[in-house]
Amino acid sequence: SQNYPEWIWQNGQIKPWRDATVHVMAHALHYGSSVFEGIRSYETPDGAAIFRLTDHLKRLYLSAKIYDIEIPYSVEELAEACRQVVKKNDLKAAYLRPVAFRGLGGFGLSAECPTDVAVASWPMGPYLGPEALENGIDACVSSWQRFAPNTIPAGAKAGGNYLSGQLIAREARRLGFGEGIALASTGLLSEGAGENLFLVFDGALHTTPASASILTGITRHTLMTLAQEEGIEVVERDLPREYLYLADEILMCGTAAEVTPIRSVDGKKIGTGKAGPITRRLQELFFGLFNGKTADRWGWLEPL
Ligand code: PMP
Repeated sequence: SQNYPEWIWQNGQIKPWRDATVHVMAHALHYGSSVFEGIRSYETPDGAAIFRLTDHLKRLYLSAKIYDIEIPYSVEELAEACRQVVKKNDLKAAYLRPVAFRGLGGFGLSAECPTDVAVASWPMGPYLGPEALENGIDACVSSWQRFAPNTIPAGAKAGGNYLSGQLIAREARRLGFGEGIALASTGLLSEGAGENLFLVFDGALHTTPASASILTGITRHTLMTLAQEEGIEVVERDLPREYLYLADEILMCGTAAEVTPIRSVDGKKIGTGKAGPITRRLQELFFGLFNGKTADRWGWLEPL
């Protein structure tokens, strides 16, 4: 049913999609020992560009450092692999997935294994459905908590972390919600299954801190920067669950989700039940980076 792109990059080579295989005894398949990134390319008035490619790849190396996964390529080599995969598949607005993992080697938890690296890319529109960006989604608080800080480091974007994400996202979908929001092990708000969270109170943006077991997202950082430029106050702080129900506006953000309004949580309407003015403004500023209306003063758009 899936329509796969033609080409993929694996261990230094562009090859046909079907040839990018791994052994069933690869360490990562059994133990979750992979690190990866999710990146988007956009069509802009100045041609296709990969959004914050270098920042995403830097995070990949930091994730790898936490787990002692040695990536045998430089950031520049992987950046070139990313550009190559998009170009070779003739993509413009696309999602890019670099992944590095412990491959076939020993079978023990602490076994030394060679690192396999791949970069895939495929066309991608809005992740939570085309209507989500406009009308917002209905979210629920998950019955699953995020992992505690002294169990699995949330700051690494590692494959194993997404067992938690799968529980949260699948429960939400099963119950008919667009996305699930998790509490941290402290009982305070953490983040969405694959998105960071912003709440608006009296015109200020409030977002959960790194200590709430979140992945400190690059979209989160982008929105914080754009908001501050705009004179919107941004506060990183602990947030209790009930603040979800009291917020004037809520939005979720991530590479895949971009800037998605939340119109209800646990069946309670947020604000007017429509995207509020701060959410709309942040959407304008964010998507403005790609349609030319927001000046990119940070060098975030990296040309293909
Ligand atoms: N939290 C989690 C758990 C995620 O998987 C993602 C997506 N990578 C995010 C937050 C948002 O991060 P980013 O904006 O860097 O995509």
